[in-house]
Amino acid sequence: MKEKKIKCPNCGRETEWKGNPFRPFCSEKCKLADLNKWFNEEYAIEGAVGNEESEEVDTGS
Ligand SMILES: [Zn+2]
Repeated sequence: MKEKKIKCPNCGRETEWKGNPFRPFCSEKCKLADLNKWFNEEYAIEGAVGNEESEEVDTGS
């Protein structure tokens, strides 16, 4: 059987698919780094939408 190799989406290093708990990443570090990247991007987009006009929240009575 051929061993399947994948490329880590974070650092581009070749890594094993089989027995890799961090796939498709090569390591936990890359997995977390990629997750953080996505979180940061989402956060940045949300922040860029612009909430200059803050609506006053009417909690009702
Ligand atoms: Zn990596």
